[in-house]
Amino acid sequence: MSYAQDVIAAVASRDPHQPEFIQAVTEVLETLEPVIDAKPQYQKYSILERIVEPERIISFRVPWVDDNNVIRVNRGYRIQFNSAIGPYKGGIRFHPSVNEGSLKFLGFEQTFKNSLTTLPMGGGKGGADFDPRGKSEGEMMRFCQSFMNELFRHIGPDTDVPAGDIGVGAREVGYMFGQYKRLRNEFTGVFTGKGQGWGGSLIRPEATGFGAVYFLSRMLEKIGDSIEGKTIAISGFGNVAWGTAMKATELGAKVVTLSGPDGYIYDPEGMNDEKIAYMLDLRASNNDVVAPFAEKFTSAKFFADKKPWEVKVDIAMPCALQNELNEDDAKALIANGVKIVAEVSNMGCRPEAINAFLDAKVLFGPGKAVNAGGVATSGLEMTQNSIRLSWPAEEVDANLKRIMLSIHDNAWQAAKNFGLDGNYVAGSNIAGFIKVADAMIAQGVV
Ligand code: GLU
Repeated sequence: MSYAQDVIAAVASRDPHQPEFIQAVTEVLETLEPVIDAKPQYQKYSILERIVEPERIISFRVPWVDDNNVIRVNRGYRIQFNSAIGPYKGGIRFHPSVNEGSLKFLGFEQTFKNSLTTLPMGGGKGGADFDPRGKSEGEMMRFCQSFMNELFRHIGPDTDVPAGDIGVGAREVGYMFGQYKRLRNEFTGVFTGKGQGWGGSLIRPEATGFGAVYFLSRMLEKIGDSIEGKTIAISGFGNVAWGTAMKATELGAKVVTLSGPDGYIYDPEGMNDEKIAYMLDLRASNNDVVAPFAEKFTSAKFFADKKPWEVKVDIAMPCALQNELNEDDAKALIANGVKIVAEVSNMGCRPEAINAFLDAKVLFGPGKAVNAGGVATSGLEMTQNSIRLSWPAEEVDANLKRIMLSIHDNAWQAAKNFGLDGNYVAGSNIAGFIKVADAMIAQGVV
């Protein structure tokens, strides 16, 4: 067995109850084989054994009192995965699917993603198995405060800088930042995604979606095409789907689907300003459903309990949860002539789906590259906080665009260097890995 396969086997036997983590490790390590073969120092310094092991896992009780005065308990986590190239950086997710394994997969992916951004950020991820659905404002605030009552000892602007993720938006970042400030008596850039009047960067809310569309446009440019006039299927309806729909529509594409846990919306007329603004209302309602979209807009139809991948489109952009697109979905998209799949959710596609796309010569952009604009703009927010300035929206957007183009081109080039032309999965993993691995060697056995 090869060195990479040995390490994958060791992870699988050590953490058999963490399927998503094993999936992420397998996908990354398998694509690294050509680099490992070419550069024996990675094996000599046991880089793979070290890179799959989080530097620190913090797990804690989050007790809180609901509106009926009942005491509830959730599990909170922060996984400080890798700090070779900068302070730990990554979001906080509040979702019932959160557990140590799912956060380990996200923290592992984040390490490579953050490396790809070209900015000095290590990898981390946190969250709780708390479901924000149906919670009142008071409950959300008390939960966030209780979560921070433990987390505050482990983070700091030069140590670990969290941000939002699924279930954690500007409101929750505000509550957590406020509690941190109270406990530490410090106003610092310890969080990103802050409100724009108190240290948050302009364009941060839009950044993941905007960045994904910049990446997609570059993929199209590489094959001599453009986004104008293309039909796009999107899943999800949260912050990431919103930014993606906005930028794609602005650049002349037609976004024809959205989805939620209840089913999907098909609107052949595509999105417009009013529809995109309504996505925010749907999200703010805290009900986690998209069906009301079809009641409000007559051109839209709702398909209960179905996924949007059955619609005929040029481009698919999963923007919801991990493993949301399986092999059957991939086959349906391929049969309908999809040209490009740009994964915006973290590990949104099952490995069999990715293989089906690659076999069918459908260009596939992996989440860790396509969605890196969110954390990249968080990096820009950290810079602005450090120099105590805030940049105009145009400046942040221009930086975001520049970063997305360099992520694309670095991934493209890394794949080419190893004879894997057009394979963005391998290219992104290789480009992200080399920087982290070389920093780990330089810093000794720590
Ligand atoms: N949660 C986002 C991600 O998956 C953003 C993280 C951040 O801004 O730190 O990359």
